[in-house]
Amino acid sequence: MPIRQDDNGPRRRFGLLNLLLIGIGLLFLLGSFLPNRAMQVPRVPYSLFIDQVNDDQVSRAFITQEQIRYELRNPAAGEAPVLATTPIFDMDLPQRLEKKGVEFAAAPPRKPSFFTTLLSWVVPPLIFILVLQFFARRQMGGGQGALSFTRSKAKVYVPDEQSRVTFADVAGVDEAKQELTEIVDFLKKPQRYLDLGARIPKGVLLVGPPGTGKTLLSKAVAGEADVPFFIISGSEFVELFVGAGAARVRDLFEQAKKKAPCIIFIDELDAIGKSRSGSMGVVGGNDEREQTLNQLLTEMDGFATADKPVIVLAATNQPETLDAALLRPGRFDRQVLVDRPDLSGRRTILEIYVKKVKIDPSVDLDSVAAATSGFAGADLANLVNEAALLAARNNRSSVIQADLGEAIERVVAGLEKKSRVLQEDEKRVVAYHEVGHAIVGHLVPGGSKVAKISIVPRGMSALGYTLQLPTEERFLSSRDELQGQIATLLGGRSAEEVVFGKITTGAANDLQRATDIAEQMVGTYGMSEVLGPLAYDRQSGSRFLGAGQNPRRAVSDATARAIDKEVRTLVDDAHDRAVTLLNGNRDQLECIAGKILEKEVIEGDELQELLGNCRLPEGMAT
Ligand code: ADP
Ligand code: MG
Ligand code: ZN
Repeated sequence: MPIRQDDNGPRRRFGLLNLLLIGIGLLFLLGSFLPNRAMQVPRVPYSLFIDQVNDDQVSRAFITQEQIRYELRNPAAGEAPVLATTPIFDMDLPQRLEKKGVEFAAAPPRKPSFFTTLLSWVVPPLIFILVLQFFARRQMGGGQGALSFTRSKAKVYVPDEQSRVTFADVAGVDEAKQELTEIVDFLKKPQRYLDLGARIPKGVLLVGPPGTGKTLLSKAVAGEADVPFFIISGSEFVELFVGAGAARVRDLFEQAKKKAPCIIFIDELDAIGKSRSGSMGVVGGNDEREQTLNQLLTEMDGFATADKPVIVLAATNQPETLDAALLRPGRFDRQVLVDRPDLSGRRTILEIYVKKVKIDPSVDLDSVAAATSGFAGADLANLVNEAALLAARNNRSSVIQADLGEAIERVVAGLEKKSRVLQEDEKRVVAYHEVGHAIVGHLVPGGSKVAKISIVPRGMSALGYTLQLPTEERFLSSRDELQGQIATLLGGRSAEEVVFGKITTGAANDLQRATDIAEQMVGTYGMSEVLGPLAYDRQSGSRFLGAGQNPRRAVSDATARAIDKEVRTLVDDAHDRAVTLLNGNRDQLECIAGKILEKEVIEGDELQELLGNCRLPEGMAT
């Protein structure tokens, strides 16, 4: 969709001003380079001049501050009749000249010409304006004129027929779509709602992790509703100059009100909407954001006529950092969750994107959807594109299942780094580590089906990986399954211990995830027998950012200690379990690791057969 900048007046004015300046500058330069007659007169030392005066050779002298020009009485043949010298401070000069009968005159103090006066008055301010303008333009990021710091940079969005985004382009987020359809309806026929006495909502906040289609949805709203659509990113309000953000908000709403009914879309609202109390620790920049936020709140509370609604859409992926005042009724009172798509959602999103590439009819999208649990819409779009690139690289005329399979791995584990070669001994460690994950994952409940083990390095940090595919979409996990997951995550490190008797740095990410799960079991899911069904972590407000942001509820020291102990116990137990399982299956561990070192990758039936030989050790229940 093209974005129209609806006035270019300031830009034109800027051009004129520039031309004028450049013209004056050129004249000035020319003036100083113009050949000066004084330059052609031969210069002589002052002492020679005095000598010549004393010898009665000088007939006339013309004295200015910069030079003394004088004429010789009887110039010798070939000698210049007029000479010049640089005056030095010499109080006796007039007497000397008079004594020798030299006719002399001094120039009147130099009067600046009109031109110079003009230059000295006009040029400095012009330079000042130019500098200011330079900064202004950098601030604005484009075509606006001088001193317009306070103009909002909102762009009016005018969808044209070909590039129009509609709700049909967004899939897998049905609830959000439905909610927004209603908004579109409000804008198209406000009267119908007003007749019923319904209050039209002012603000709708789209909340969800990155890449789930929030920006896309808002563009679809613009495409569906035939109303002007102002789009601006929250970060564009945050400026160097205090007060600029607030002024921009005011300007934005003014423009919007003129075009009502219309929609304002503020992307990345968290850039201005950060909680005021929460950010006290940060020095500087706070005041500015606070002012901007206050202005936004004022504008949203402000008068908007019911039959000419201005609806504010906003998007954020950090709802928990938003100021509570933003979420009050009359402001962003509607919050629409745009979450990662589920199995059927992923399938429909894939359908949208495979239509844009040539795809082989044999491709099974269901299995692709099943293997991409946790992918957001943007990841899926990327996945299909990767697959098409792979097909092209292999000179295929259409995308086949294998391309999609490889693309999944790429997106999951980063791009294959063929160039990175592991040392032989490192390779051994990685092989045992990955097989450790696979064997434990195979034997414990909750471990999903191991589809592939590989020691081909991928991406930035993964040295090898064990690809587990969940067999079905799961929303609930039992305590047993979570414990199994922790054990599986620790399987890698445990294998290193069992086989090499020492540990490496390769398990850092595994440990992180294992500890996270254990912490959630105790703090969020109330799965600890010792601590009971209490949620020690604060509400799951930060579900998009993981547990790291969760402050703990206020608990006594004893409880805090008990929580830590319980988390520790969960992880320790899982570790013991993994070690026991691996010791009991040492033969299989060696056998599979040997195969992997040979082939780098094991997957499919071969892997299932090998894992099928693994047994629970005597006396150990699942
Ligand atoms: P967000 O603003 O939530 O971070 P975007 O809307 O910018 O995400 O999504 C980035 C791209 O990913 C979109 O342009 C679109 O191509 C694709 N995409 C994301 N979510 C979806 C979806 N639900 N349906 C179709 N495409 C999607
Ligand atoms: Mg976005
Ligand atoms: Zn690992």
